[in-house]
This record gives sequence, structure tokens and C-alpha cells, in this order.
Amino acid sequence: MIEFNDVSLVYPNGTEGLKNIDLKINEGEFVVIVGLSGAGKSTFIRSINRLVTPTSGSLLVEDEDILKANGTDLRRLRTKIGMIFQSYNLVKRSTVLKNVISGRLGYTGTLTSILNIFSKEDKLLAYENLKRVNIEEKLYNRADELSGGQQQRVSIARVLTQKPKLILADEPVASLDPPTSHQVMKYLKQINREDKITTIVNLHFIDMAMEYADRIIGMRAGEVVFDGPVSDVTEQT
Ligand code: ADP
Ligand code: ADP
Repeated sequence: MIEFNDVSLVYPNGTEGLKNIDLKINEGEFVVIVGLSGAGKSTFIRSINRLVTPTSGSLLVEDEDILKANGTDLRRLRTKIGMIFQSYNLVKRSTVLKNVISGRLGYTGTLTSILNIFSKEDKLLAYENLKRVNIEEKLYNRADELSGGQQQRVSIARVLTQKPKLILADEPVASLDPPTSHQVMKYLKQINREDKITTIVNLHFIDMAMEYADRIIGMRAGEVVFDGPVSDVTEQT
């Protein structure tokens, strides 16, 4: 599904965000990336949909080198990739329903007239996805009326409505308290299992990673310093 071949990324100021990354991620895996702040987790995740562009190597997403992709290729690839952010990135003044429907492929307009543009099927899909994260009763609330955990569940429903092949979650629980963090991680894991969507999540805390990951990638200063199943994580790593 994803293949890093000797991928490096040097930021314009000389910081090495990624150093010689070589690994594959298979379809359906639930991968957690751990490491201290500044380790390169976010750079790793953002390279996969080219929010940042590696400076050397090749990076295949479904057999296509995204480092060689032009604008049209990139837009097509990005429709397959759902992003979840630490800060939820919802349109605050819009309703939960509009936010979730906006996950439908290719929509780039404002959210004001969205309910007129989208079909009944799309609205139904949005509603079903809100049900999957138990937040359907907030359908007509404004996004900014919801708690952090509720907003992150809405952003998961939005990503589901996009029908992605891959979910990238960049520190999805960093702004949430521990019980709420576990709730969000459980939904991500459940979706990975039920829908077989390959999922890559950045986390600060190794104990949370151990609880949910199939595979853990440890990063330090732009390098992969550990890569294996949870059972291989020892005190030293
Ligand atoms: P993490 O997600 O693990 O906190 P990041 O991927 O955000 O790590 O950052 C990796 C390194 O790259 C850090 O040293 C960070 O300061 C640096 N970095 C990130 N973004 C930029 C940028 N746009 N320009 C320069 N350096 C950056
Ligand atoms: P996060 O760790 O959640 O990705 P950061 O606070 O590290 O967020 O970074 C916020 C923004 O600043 C990002 O777009 C990142 O690329 C950029 N950034 C991070 N570190 C640096 C840096 N040393 N120099 C320039 N830009 C940076």
C-alpha cells in the first residue's frame, strides 16, 4: 500500500525532517508512530499525501510514486487519503452534518449551500457515519458547540464519508484528556478492523501506542529507530 524507498526530507533551513526512511506499510495495517516532539512523526505522515515534499527517494502510494505526481495525480491520490488533525479542523460555524458531508469526494466549495448540492444518499451516508461514532444526536449543532472529543469524532465521521483507502491521523488525541483519548483511539481501531482501512497514527505516548497498534514505528531525529510488532517493544526501545 505504501512504500518508502530511501526517503529523506531536508527543510529549507537545513533541518533533516526525514533521514533515509526505508519501509513498507501493508493494506489494513494499524501503525502507530511514536517519538518525542521534533522526532519527525508529523513530517513522516505529511509526506504520504505530500503536504510536505521529500527531497530524495521514492514514495509509493498504491504503486504510484507521489514524488513524481503532478497536480492532477495529487488531487486524485488525496481523495483516497483521509486526514485527521490534532485541532479537528472543522468549519466551526457550520453544522455537524455539513462538516461531515463535506468529506464527499472532490467538494471544494463553501459549506453554506452544501445541503442543496449533495444527494439524499450522501446525507444518509453522513448520518450513518455519525452514528458509527455515536454523535448523530448532534447533527444540527454547530461544530463549535461540541467538546474536543465530540469534534474529533465528527472529524472521524467526515473522513469516513470520504470513503478513503488510507487514514492518516496526526496527533489525533494530543488535545484530549486520557478517557476521551481512549474513546477516540477505540473508534479509529474499530474502523480499521471493520472497514480494513489502512491507518497510520502519530502518538506521543508509548503506552497508548502499545494498547492499540499492530505495529509500532519509533522515530528519533528523522530516523526510524524501531519498527516492529507491539510484542517486540522492550524497556530499552
Ligand atoms: P514531530 O511531529 O515528531 O513533533 P516534526 O515532523 O513536526 O516532528 O518535525 C521534525 C523536525 O523538523 C523538527 O526538528 C522540526 O522543528 C522540524 N520542522 C518541521 N517543520 C518544519 C518546517 N516547516 N521548517 C523547518 N523545520 C521544520
Ligand atoms: P505539529 O508538531 O503539530 O506538526 P508544530 O507546532 O511542530 O506542529 O508546527 C506547526 C507548523 O510549523 C507546521 O506547519 C510545521 O511544519 C512548522 N514548523 C515546525 N517547526 C518548524 C521550524 N523549526 N521552522 C519552521 N517551521 C516549523
